[in-house]
Amino acid sequence: MTQGARDLARKEGPGRMAALPGAPSAGAPLPGGCFTEDDLLPLSALQHLVFCERQCGLMFIDRVWRDNSLTLEGSHMHRRVHEEAPRRELRGDLLIARGVHLRSLTLGVVGVADVVEFHRASPPGHDSKEALDVTVKLAGVGGRWRPFPVEYKRGKPKRDRCDEVQLCAQAICIEEMLGVVLMDGALFYGASQRRHEVVFTAELREETCRVSRRLHELFAAGTVPRVERQSKCKSCSLVEICRPDVTGPGRSARRYLANAARIARREEEEEEAM
Ligand code: SF4
Repeated sequence: MTQGARDLARKEGPGRMAALPGAPSAGAPLPGGCFTEDDLLPLSALQHLVFCERQCGLMFIDRVWRDNSLTLEGSHMHRRVHEEAPRRELRGDLLIARGVHLRSLTLGVVGVADVVEFHRASPPGHDSKEALDVTVKLAGVGGRWRPFPVEYKRGKPKRDRCDEVQLCAQAICIEEMLGVVLMDGALFYGASQRRHEVVFTAELREETCRVSRRLHELFAAGTVPRVERQSKCKSCSLVEICRPDVTGPGRSARRYLANAARIARREEEEEEAM
């Protein structure tokens, strides 16, 4: 793994994040998978990869970031969830853990979940055998609890499945860390102020594994892919840096330079006209 990838993964590592309730205590080994701790890549890169491979490469290989109003709103929303609310809160039969550190050696990713809820499945002393594989014991609160990840998103549900893949990756991390099976979770969208339930189907799990494999391929190659302009480029914060019109695949060097000169001329004319 490159130093850059290591730095990024470290940024999403435990740091000042909360430990996952119910996980083995610090220092105790967690179950393994096909990757090692050294291979871990940022879980948050998966959603960018589903959105656009080039965006993911620019952000996580070239380490380019540019905010627009959409990304600023998103950062603000995540800050509110991570920093302005208590790390752990018990509300009757609901325990809420915020800013939770997650990792999976099966997917080879490390990251932070906005919220992992734990819903009480049975009171202390009433453990139902059927629920054992979908519930965990939590220190200090008794009984068994069902984990349920919730990811906060600015805006509204997207056309692609980038948000679902990110949530499913979090679910796979939780399953690996706690030794449970997660059936579902939720995405909370700021625009509608509503939760959308996500069922972790076999198909979504397969897609999540495929995307994480592709992420590792991309990092191993270490080059930013070139892609054609797409309708989603309009909302991409990196459009000015990416310039898909001049850097897309199949563009010759001569045409690239001609296009770059044409765009520069147009920008100069626009500046003069202002
Ligand atoms: S501008 Fe378009 S092609 Fe470039 S990174 Fe953004 S979405 Fe991808």
